[in-house]
Amino acid sequence: MTQELAGKVAIVTGGASGIGRATVELFAAEGAKVVLADVNDAQGEALAAGLGSSVLYKRTDVSQREQVQALVDFAIERFDGLHIMFNNAGISGAQHARFMDDPLQDFDKVIGINLFGALVGTQCAARHMKDHGGGVILNNASIAGVLPGQALITYRASKAALIMISKSNAIDLAEYNIRVNVLAPGHIRTPLTSFAPPDASPEVAARVKQAVGAAFDVNQPLKRTGRPEDVAQVVLFMCSDRSAQITGTVLPVDGGITAGDPVNH
Ligand code: NAD
Repeated sequence: MTQELAGKVAIVTGGASGIGRATVELFAAEGAKVVLADVNDAQGEALAAGLGSSVLYKRTDVSQREQVQALVDFAIERFDGLHIMFNNAGISGAQHARFMDDPLQDFDKVIGINLFGALVGTQCAARHMKDHGGGVILNNASIAGVLPGQALITYRASKAALIMISKSNAIDLAEYNIRVNVLAPGHIRTPLTSFAPPDASPEVAARVKQAVGAAFDVNQPLKRTGRPEDVAQVVLFMCSDRSAQITGTVLPVDGGITAGDPVNH
């Protein structure tokens, strides 16, 4: 490892699982001090404990402004600064095949976590970074925020809005040397992409997960479902000084899904 993030302090929300977890592990290996924020205490605490004193767990529901402010204050107090904010926590909400069947019962929750959570994270982090030489904010959206589809309407809306606001924030915060960028992952194999209903038996859930994973593999030009580690490498680049001239971009990490014609690729 190159210790590319030596001397940096980072917050990773949704850091107990999937893309966030892979990022916490990579950031720690690259020398960063990391505060891992999540609502899954068991997984968050276990991960932090296994990575040593440079990683701390802080329970944070990102949809609650005061908890996000407390998270930022915690990082600054414990690690004496904040240079990187990765707003990654997200949920898909209840899965419905078609819009007409969608009761939209998760609307407030999905928007509260995916959109409001990232915005408040940006705001609280930027207020500190502004007075301390700048920093990097990276928001995790999705190709679902770029591509329309029949299902997951609220999720798509949350990610599309996140892309728009992130780009606007990039323009607004540039004078403080704060870079703001957005990732748009495609199909990444994580617990979030297990589409079984919550009450499914473990056997059914496993079958659904396998079937969805197989479909993900073939429905993209690279024919390989992404791994959380694939995304974490891109997060590292976008949060390091190697991307110092990049702000206001939406970067797909999608195996080529958004590159072109989905039928003839
Ligand atoms: P995941 O379910 O593995 O991890 C998400 C984490 O967020 C979990 O640890 C969960 O406990 C945490 N979380 C949920 N609600 C929270 C809250 N209110 N406050 C703080 N933490 C909370 O999912 P993942 O696939 O790693 O997703 C991470 C991000 O990547 C999400 O924003 C998701 O929308 C985005 N994304 C994922 C994919 C994919 O295919 N997996 C594709 C595109 C975008």
